[in-house]
Amino acid sequence: MEKPKRDVDFLVVGQGIAGTVFSFLLDKNQHRFIVLDSEAKPAATDAAAGIMNPITGKHLTLSWNYQELYPIATTLYKEMCRELGLEIQLEKPVVRAFKFQTQLNDWEYRSSQQRYAAFMTSPPSTIQNEPRIKTAVGKGATAYSFQIPIHELRKRWKSHLMDKAVYLEDSFDYSAVAWEGGYGMYKDIKFKHLICSEGAYVKHNPYFNYLPFDPAKGEALIIRINNWYNDIIYKGNVFIAPWDGEELFWVGGTYAWHTENPYPTAEKKAQLITQLESMFDGDYEIVDQVAGLRPATKDRKPIIGSHPDIQGLYILNGMGTKGTSLSPYCAKQLYNHILHKAPIDPEISIDRFTSSP
Ligand SMILES: Cc1cc2nc3c(=O)[nH]c(=O)nc-3n(C[C@H](O)[C@H](O)[C@H](O)COP(=O)(O)OP(=O)(O)OC[C@H]3O[C@@H](n4cnc5c(N)ncnc54)[C@H](O)[C@@H]3O)c2cc1C
Repeated sequence: MEKPKRDVDFLVVGQGIAGTVFSFLLDKNQHRFIVLDSEAKPAATDAAAGIMNPITGKHLTLSWNYQELYPIATTLYKEMCRELGLEIQLEKPVVRAFKFQTQLNDWEYRSSQQRYAAFMTSPPSTIQNEPRIKTAVGKGATAYSFQIPIHELRKRWKSHLMDKAVYLEDSFDYSAVAWEGGYGMYKDIKFKHLICSEGAYVKHNPYFNYLPFDPAKGEALIIRINNWYNDIIYKGNVFIAPWDGEELFWVGGTYAWHTENPYPTAEKKAQLITQLESMFDGDYEIVDQVAGLRPATKDRKPIIGSHPDIQGLYILNGMGTKGTSLSPYCAKQLYNHILHKAPIDPEISIDRFTSSP
């Protein structure tokens, strides 16, 4: 075993949005920590639109635990944006463009239900009449929806960690970890707690690769639309959401399972163009294509908590399609579990896979 040069409370592996938010909590609470990330493979966080949408899917269902998740997430992200000098409006409506009367009827029926009413509205006439969004029968808008620039926060947080000399660019070598006397050693770093937040690359983690992950690859286009100063998220066959810069928009995303290739493909580019043109009327230019592996799980819930056998080893993963809204809630759950022995929400706890029935 190497002689330790650094002695920390936490070693965090992976700085996607999950590792970013968890290390933000550590920093805020003045813990000694190191974050380690390899830049070798794309993070899902860099491909994501960062949308937090209360009403999801064809069946217009309320997203899991949204009432609890969104206040925790927005409070944390506002704090982070302030600290990192990002001045932006986070709240944005998601406006659905309906092609068929049945879709509009479904929207109206749902919004008449008490649980849904606060989240579903009718957009103002300027949005109803937006000429570039093709709509046959009308539009519906959500309230309490947000767009968080998680890729930008990840980038700025990395710089912050580098300035504090607590960031290591390294591909974590699991065979170089040793556990002894209530501590762990990784190369020359001695630590009390190891947090694994590697997203879909968890399959290379020998401690946690037995868990039922089911990654879903996603791709998106970044397009330029001249003279469209739009700060609204539109949803038809795809989402069209504002991106970095006034005339840039994110168009996505696609889904593909059973692939480990995290890079963009020509096939999905063609699919996205068709989907975009089915709902957008106007000129545009493609400036980039992004892709990533969403760390989804078989039961579509995160996986948080302590390793069943190794003390001091934890997982913070399984954010799936909703890492923006889930990461702050999950990071707080794990933080309070480690620091204050608070129980983890059973729906997201690793114990659902390791406890005896
Ligand atoms: C096209 C697309 C669109 C999406 N849109 C949205 C959206 O609008 N809203 C939303 O909430 N979610 C969205 N998502 C999902 C969201 O991106 C994920 O839920 C979230 O980013 C997962 O974050 P993570 O930190 O768990 O993983 P990642 O962002 O993948 O980060 C994992 C990090 O761990 C690092 N790593 C892995 N293994 C190692 C190792 N051995 N050593 C060192 N570092 C390692 C990787 O390099 C990476 O940086 C989208 C995803 C895609 C692909």
